[in-house]
Amino acid sequence: MGLEKDSYERIIENLYDGLYFVDRDRVITYWNKGAERISGFTADEVVGKSCADNILTHVDSQGNSLCTGMCPLAATIADGKLRETELYMHHKDGHRIPVSVRVSTLTDRDGIIIGGVEVFTDISNQEATKLRVKELEKLALLDNLTQLANRNYIEREIQSRFGEKKRLNVPFGILFIDIDHFKKFNDSYGHDMGDEVLKFVANTFVANTRPFDLYGRWGGEEFIGIIRNINGKELEVLGNRVRTLIENSYLIHENERLYVTISIGATLVNKNDTIDSLIKRADTLLYKSKAAGRNFLTIG
Ligand code: GH3
Ligand code: MG
Ligand code: MG
Repeated sequence: MGLEKDSYERIIENLYDGLYFVDRDRVITYWNKGAERISGFTADEVVGKSCADNILTHVDSQGNSLCTGMCPLAATIADGKLRETELYMHHKDGHRIPVSVRVSTLTDRDGIIIGGVEVFTDISNQEATKLRVKELEKLALLDNLTQLANRNYIEREIQSRFGEKKRLNVPFGILFIDIDHFKKFNDSYGHDMGDEVLKFVANTFVANTRPFDLYGRWGGEEFIGIIRNINGKELEVLGNRVRTLIENSYLIHENERLYVTISIGATLVNKNDTIDSLIKRADTLLYKSKAAGRNFLTIG
């Protein structure tokens, strides 16, 4: 059973990635919803324009324009080869967005190249994380096992969040996170498997971090998430989301799925807080989550 043509169209239209077609002259002939979302330009604004018409104006990381000469689409239309690269796309609002792009040709029934197709993915979050890793490495503020910020960095980060709160009144909250019954896990599966768990828990945080938030390893099996510009309700939702993500993640070990859960104490910064009072309060709330049976979040 083949798919109907309009099913393909619907799938393409609603892909999370941006996707567009150009003809041989690099005039844009199709622009999907993902492309609208990532670039800020609607299909009406770009279809019929050439991609060198000051619309997308891709640049490389040195700021060199790719639209005159070195554009991957033009190169692929010329030689028929697939290309993948990372570049910076122009957003309608003016800023540059890092995207990873894949380019291939469009051919007619006889295999003649009639244009090109570019699929692009917004990698701004990944980009921010990569830059942050570099920065942390440079400052030796990285936890070796998990590659998260270490305790020292967490303290500095909270200090700057206090500064931001004072100057600009930007609220923030923290999630104090502790793996449940981790000692038992180590005892059952060994310390090395325990380390694997710490890594996958850390990776879950990183993969689900908003670019302006930070998760770090406070020590042992304890983590702190610093969550910026948020209210109590949102902090609770966000914390419960990571809790649920961890609950539903697992490691495979000798054909067995190994699960862990986390408990969380969540709190927003108060007017009179210091780092110590803030963390102490989160720790007390975490303890309540443990007492409530674990795999639980308490906000206060
Ligand atoms: P609870 O649910 O009350 O938090 O119980 P728990 O067993 O997680 O808590 P407890 O604080 O008693 O034990 C923490 C354990 O975490 C003890 C230690 O063996 C383990 N741990 C701490 N750091 C590491 C590490 O770097 N690697 C591994 N594998 N285990 C660690
Ligand atoms: Mg602990
Ligand atoms: Mg624990």
